[in-house]
Amino acid sequence: MNKLYDQNNIFAKILRSEIPCNKILENENSIAFSDINPQAKIHILIIPKKPYLNFNDFTKNASLIEVESFWKLVNDVIEYTAVDEEGFRIITNSGKNGNQDVPHFHVHLLGGNNLGRMIK
Ligand code: AMP
Repeated sequence: MNKLYDQNNIFAKILRSEIPCNKILENENSIAFSDINPQAKIHILIIPKKPYLNFNDFTKNASLIEVESFWKLVNDVIEYTAVDEEGFRIITNSGKNGNQDVPHFHVHLLGGNNLGRMIK
């Protein structure tokens, strides 16, 4: 585990079932649940189950099986919610400049309505 990983971050608590989430889909290595403060009609977070800090930590240190099943789950959620019919956006924030609030790697899936320009 990355020595900077905070085991008490909110997603670590969700993974330990210490706090609830609205689970959408899950596979062996990853889980998808609703964002508590949705920024679009559909706003779902997809996270790996193992403790990775951010995109770089995950991409560099996760096994190929974890990486593959993570992106497979992202696509499964896209199909499950049918956001691909009208279009969607996936975002991952990293670090201070990315304004990452929760230091456990996650992808935001946004859709269900027109999302506007990417950066206002
Ligand atoms: P980021 O700024 O990319 O780290 O995004 C963190 C996201 O986690 C935000 O969109 C929050 O609304 C969301 N969030 C925080 N706490 C929870 C929670 N308990 N359940 C679901 N989503 C959460």
